[in-house]
Amino acid sequence: MLNLFFPKVCVGCKEQLLKGETVLCMDCIHSLPIASFHKTGSEMLQDKFYGRFLVKNATALIYFQKRGLTQELLHNLKYRGKKEISSFFGKWLGAELAENNHYKEVEMVIPVPLHKQKLKKRGFNQVEGFGKEIALALNVPYRDDILIKISKTGSQAFKTRILRFEAEELFSAQHLGEIKNKHILLVDDIITTGATLEKCALQLLKGENVKISVATIATT
Ligand SMILES: [Zn+2]
Repeated sequence: MLNLFFPKVCVGCKEQLLKGETVLCMDCIHSLPIASFHKTGSEMLQDKFYGRFLVKNATALIYFQKRGLTQELLHNLKYRGKKEISSFFGKWLGAELAENNHYKEVEMVIPVPLHKQKLKKRGFNQVEGFGKEIALALNVPYRDDILIKISKTGSQAFKTRILRFEAEELFSAQHLGEIKNKHILLVDDIITTGATLEKCALQLLKGENVKISVATIATT
C-alpha cells in the first residue's frame, strides 16, 4: 500500500526500483565493493582478532568506503530509519552462508546490542534485520536477549564526549546456560578495529564451550 504514495527508489542512484528489487537497483548492486570473505577464503577479518579471542570464521559482505555508496547505505540505515537495508543485506548474506560449510554449524545468531536508551531513541537496532534474516536462512534462533549493553557508573562528567563514549562501551552476557556448547554467529553492521565485537565475544565466551564466528554488513 505504501508504494502508492512513496514509489520505491534505489538508495544509490535514486532511480525508481523495478518489481522485485528492494533497496538497490541491479546496477548499484554490481557497483558495490564486495568483500565476501566467506567466498574468497580471506582471513583478513580473523586476523583483526588475532591474540584477542579465538574466532572460528569471520566475514563481511562489502567494504566500507567513505563518501561512497556503502557509507550512504549505512547512514540511511542508522539515521534515516531505513531498516529494510539491514534485512536486504541479511537475506543476501544468509543465502550465501546457508550454502557454506564453515557456517553450516552455526547454532544461534546474536546481535551486538544497543544501549536501551539509544534503542529507545533510534527505535530499532540497525543490525536486527541483518541478523534475523541470517538466522532464518540458517534455520537457527536469533537471540537479542543474551548480550546487553550497560553503562559504566560513576562520574564521567569531566571527560570529553568521545572519551565518555569509549568508556561507556561495556557489555554483559546473561542466560549463559542457554549458549552452552553453542557455536554463535555474532553480527554487527560494521567492523573497524574490531574492539566492539571483541568486547561482546569475551562476554559470550564466559559461557561453557562457546564458539564464536562473526559476520558484518561492512568492513573498513
Ligand atoms: Zn541504483
